[in-house]
Amino acid sequence: MISEEQARKKILETIRPLPSRLLPLSEALGSFAAEDYFARLPLPTFDNSAMDGYAVVASSCAKGGRLRVTGEQPAGRDKQLRVSSGEAVRIFTGAPIPTGADAIVMQEDITRDGEEIVINTGVEAGEFIRRRGCDLAEGQGILAKGERLRSATIALLASQGIADVAVGAEVNAAIISTGDELVKPGGKRDPGQIYESNSALLNALLERCGAAVNSAEHCRDERESLIEGIKRGMRNHVLIISGGVSVGEHDLVKDALRELGAQIEIWRVAIKPGKPFLFGRMQQSKPSPHSSPSARERRTRSAGQSSVPDAECLVFGLPGNPVSAFVTFLQFVRPAILKMMGATNLDLPQLPAKLAVDLTNEGDRAHYIRGKLEHGKFFPVGRQESHALFGLSQSNALLRLDLGQSLKADEIVDVQIWDW
Ligand code: AMP
Ligand code: MG
Repeated sequence: MISEEQARKKILETIRPLPSRLLPLSEALGSFAAEDYFARLPLPTFDNSAMDGYAVVASSCAKGGRLRVTGEQPAGRDKQLRVSSGEAVRIFTGAPIPTGADAIVMQEDITRDGEEIVINTGVEAGEFIRRRGCDLAEGQGILAKGERLRSATIALLASQGIADVAVGAEVNAAIISTGDELVKPGGKRDPGQIYESNSALLNALLERCGAAVNSAEHCRDERESLIEGIKRGMRNHVLIISGGVSVGEHDLVKDALRELGAQIEIWRVAIKPGKPFLFGRMQQSKPSPHSSPSARERRTRSAGQSSVPDAECLVFGLPGNPVSAFVTFLQFVRPAILKMMGATNLDLPQLPAKLAVDLTNEGDRAHYIRGKLEHGKFFPVGRQESHALFGLSQSNALLRLDLGQSLKADEIVDVQIWDW
């Protein structure tokens, strides 16, 4: 059994980001930048008006004074107008500032009188002018390689005239749930059977990471069933198998993987819940001849790097107990997928919290306590056992207790936010 840190290190060491691609901005939300981006244009791009009003020379404006209106500059084409003392140009928000003008008087602050305006306010130089480059200078960094594209980042790229952005690859994944006791939700459940929840859980977690789930199937605790399921699943970058990785006679996943040539890198990690976790690598099997590229694949173009798909399939065997599957996904699978997608930050967001109770880990494994972070306080919720799905559903954060660690109520601790 290896430590959680060793396991994570070993997994991440084997992973290289997949080749990048160019995506239209409209499809890039949540992807990770594959290169550094710098401002091509300053923001604002030219001096422009922040208001609908009149462009004036501030020194020629006295409260109650009159100015002659000599032209009109709407937003759009720069008419290259000029303003001198005693003059005003009608102007609109976003329009370029006429030469000579150094202030805008809001239209609410004047009275129009034919071809003249009467100024009803004091005017200061610079007022309501948005200066070129005051928000963003040309050449300034706007997006770092490995950073996630958020809505505002996408808008910023658009403001630079960028239509397509180089981002990390989409990771495709397959899910296999194993167990003779499992029934798909919606099916008929016989005595002794349970409704299968890990596929739903893993599907949701994968989607939340930005991975594309290609298939989710169920296999019986039976060699042939597993072999066939794994053969189909290993056409993906990632295959996640839940259940069947423990030590019982019905835990056949490890042998089935070996039989198909998988290299098992990790089995059993000192983490609670989640000890039977397995990680292995295998060559991706070829997709069937009739499978055509997805619509998204067809739309995207390679961003200069090799477009040969990575031929390796990473296999994660997660324990069947729902909370174990959840915790091991977040601690091991999520960072692996993010790294494949080209992300820099692989950690769950953390927040400091005041601990509501005393907690001690007397066990020999790092313990993840499920709890709720509310108003800056963290308190454990529900039963802290690996099958306790209801308790997990009431939580929004995890607290990691290291081996032998003892924490006192009111201590400030960092908790991982899983509902990120
Ligand atoms: P296993 O890891 O296969 O020994 O399963 C451990 C526990 O998790 C057993 O109680 C299983 O019934 C349960 N379990 C396994 N797979 C699932 C699943 N897909 N959904 C819900 N519970 C599961
Ligand atoms: Mg099982």
